[in-house]
Amino acid sequence: MTADHLDVLIVGAGLSGIGAAHHVQDAFPGRSYAILEAREAIGGTWDLFRYPGIRSDSDMQTLGYRFRPWTDEKSIADGPAILEYVRSTAAAAGIDKRTRFGHRVIRADWSSADRRWTVTAEHGGETVTLTARFLYTCTGYYRYDEGYTPHFEGTDRFHGRIVHPQHWPEDLDYAGKKVVVIGSGATAVTLVPSMAADAGHVTMLQRSPTYIASLPAKDPIANSLRRVLGNRLAYPITRWKNVAFSTATYQLSQRLPGLVKSVLRRAQERQLPAGYDIDTHFTPRYNPWDQRMCLVPDGDLFRAIRRGTASIVTDRIETFTERGLALESGAELDADVIVTATGLNLLAFGGIELCLDGTPVSLRDTLAYKGMMLGGVPNFVFTIGYTNASWTLKADLVAEYFCRLLARMDERGESVCVPVNDDPTLTTRPLLDFDAGYVQRSLDAFPRAGARAPWQLGMSYVHDLVTLRHRSLDDGAMRFSS
Ligand SMILES: Cc1cc2nc3c(=O)[nH]c(=O)nc-3n(C[C@H](O)[C@H](O)[C@H](O)COP(=O)(O)OP(=O)(O)OC[C@H]3O[C@@H](n4cnc5c(N)ncnc54)[C@H](O)[C@@H]3O)c2cc1C
Repeated sequence: MTADHLDVLIVGAGLSGIGAAHHVQDAFPGRSYAILEAREAIGGTWDLFRYPGIRSDSDMQTLGYRFRPWTDEKSIADGPAILEYVRSTAAAAGIDKRTRFGHRVIRADWSSADRRWTVTAEHGGETVTLTARFLYTCTGYYRYDEGYTPHFEGTDRFHGRIVHPQHWPEDLDYAGKKVVVIGSGATAVTLVPSMAADAGHVTMLQRSPTYIASLPAKDPIANSLRRVLGNRLAYPITRWKNVAFSTATYQLSQRLPGLVKSVLRRAQERQLPAGYDIDTHFTPRYNPWDQRMCLVPDGDLFRAIRRGTASIVTDRIETFTERGLALESGAELDADVIVTATGLNLLAFGGIELCLDGTPVSLRDTLAYKGMMLGGVPNFVFTIGYTNASWTLKADLVAEYFCRLLARMDERGESVCVPVNDDPTLTTRPLLDFDAGYVQRSLDAFPRAGARAPWQLGMSYVHDLVTLRHRSLDDGAMRFSS
């Protein structure tokens, strides 16, 4: 075996790629694998985003790996702490040494004759080719080079600075200045209280509201358990506690949305100034968890509103002006800095062109299998985490399932596995079944999911845990050959 043929080629050295490598090397110490990473650093999302206050919006006991306890006091953690966690996981297991940086994978071609992938990457202006038995993409779900900004009239007239959170300028000084943050998602609700600490005033300008709930940044139960039981024992207990809490909240939101709405509203009433217009600014038209709910640690957004350092305006932009924004209601917002927290551009499999014997795979005509492989595409695995729970819960299960597959194939001398759908009547639905605008915009570029197992995209961790960790690999759809 030459250095450029590998058993497993992982693409992406973010949270998922490092986790995948850890599982593979733990289960098969003798196996050859490498990670190809387009950037010059480990960490993915947690290295790319540098805006003020960047943090997780789920708890780190479930966003952390199953195999490595999160030991920090804060459960809702700051971006740099998460980055350090991913990097130290990689360094401790020597995964950083197996990562080839500056390698952007552009194409992967499966050869039926050779039973291997030929993977092409760009590296320092040159093209590099490797072959691998398995291709395992951990490329996240969005474009790194460009965040999403809708078209706004008059941006060239504006005399201040326009900033996108995905490309935060290191030299941006907003102390004492008037800031408008456009958006209502996780990034906007993180930025607003964080910038409000130094800015003159921060206005969050939203077209429509989002459900926002407050959680303690430090989980008292998790920290007490850690003190009494130590990290190793306390971590899985807290992880299960948090899985149970988020599953129950999600299920309750689906079944009794009215109850969840009123609980959220009562909590907001307690944290906002008396008489605050909750209907306009905090009451979405959809039900809780039809789109991802935003979490604010220790109610920081509500606190900034109470203090008067931040405010929310629910309106639509007519145009940018020299001094700020003119809104459809006729109101004007003055600004020195405008932050467009308007979202991401989704991208499937890091933009890699997948081919089977030279023929490109049309992703929109392909079915995802168990939300982690593709129908008709051999020896290929991908990681896309949950939208209603922490990403890593799914990423860990995908890696465990992949290791089970590999072990079984080794045992039986099989070299190829491929999920096949024999049922032409199987109805399909979008892989990412989520109403959010940024998801809807890009669905056509993603594979689809089926209406029933094993082609369904599971959004329940407990269900996936049973299926991916314990159920037989022979489910009728997965075909093995030697
Ligand atoms: C600001 C922000 C906050 C988030 N907060 C949370 C949260 O609190 N909880 C949660 O569950 N989820 C959250 N998410 C979702 C988040 O992306 C995941 O939790 C997780 O970080 C994804 O890890 P990943 O490794 O799968 O992907 P990424 O972090 O996106 O890493 C992908 C890696 O693959 C590399 N790559 C991509 N394409 C190629 C290619 N063609 N060739 C080579 N390398 C390539 C990239 O350079 C990158 O390093 C957040 C997302 C964002 C943007």
